Amino acid sequence: MGYVIRGLPKSKNFRAFAVECRDVVETIRNLQKLSPVATAALGRAIAGVALLSADLKCGKVLLQINGGGPIGEVLAEGDAEGNLRGTVQHPDVWIEPVSGKLPVGLAVGKNGFISVVKDLGLKEVYQSSTELVSGEIAEDLAYYLTVSEQIPSAVALGVLVDTDGSVITAGGFLVQKLPDATEEEVEELEKLLKELPPVTKLLSEGKTPEDILKEIFPDIEILEKREVRHKCTCSLEKVERTLIALGKEELEKFLKEGKPVEVQCSFCKTSYTVDLSRIKELLKSFKED
Ligand code: ZN
Repeated sequence: MGYVIRGLPKSKNFRAFAVECRDVVETIRNLQKLSPVATAALGRAIAGVALLSADLKCGKVLLQINGGGPIGEVLAEGDAEGNLRGTVQHPDVWIEPVSGKLPVGLAVGKNGFISVVKDLGLKEVYQSSTELVSGEIAEDLAYYLTVSEQIPSAVALGVLVDTDGSVITAGGFLVQKLPDATEEEVEELEKLLKELPPVTKLLSEGKTPEDILKEIFPDIEILEKREVRHKCTCSLEKVERTLIALGKEELEKFLKEGKPVEVQCSFCKTSYTVDLSRIKELLKSFKED
């Protein structure tokens, strides 16, 4: 099980988050049989959404990336309890490493958008998006936060995949400028971040999220630590609600075909069967209306 932390340096002019989520990404890789480049892409999105949801009090955040590349859409979701899930449209996308690196940007593409949907359990759902910069996800997320949410942000996300496809490390950090930060402080931070080793290197050296934030802000105070885990939100009830939403005629079609309806969750791969007698019951909900 991994965790995400939130911290504040002594100056209180920045806020910082860091996450280690190797187990979550490895679980998803196994469930969805992700190729190495799909593991790297989705793993970065999972780490990104873990950082975005780290200071949620309630509700959830959905990260959607679609750059027109061969992986298709990348989806990652995180909630206030540290539950994470995600999926990609084409889990078996295969692209050879370029200079020893998995080419996430080539898999994702950069002709499209990154969107963030925040559902805080209130009436309105907040949604915003920006154009992709590189399809490498961290850069795209930083651009989104800086432009769309107007909080200058630096994001690093990394997934290290072994030769057998398994996940060695996964995680990242997010640093955001607060209004009182001076230009000098920002310049100093930018210089430091440029010289910082890649996050996969830091994690594979055994550095914890706390260690990583201390590399950036030696005087940081960690305000919160939250466990993260893979957990899906699908259920038979939700499947049935989706079936009802298809409409009466569609349900009657299923009955005519005489076969139970099989639905598999694309996130956790759980299979649900709605048999014919249950479809008859669902149809009653229309007649009573
Ligand atoms: Zn599921």
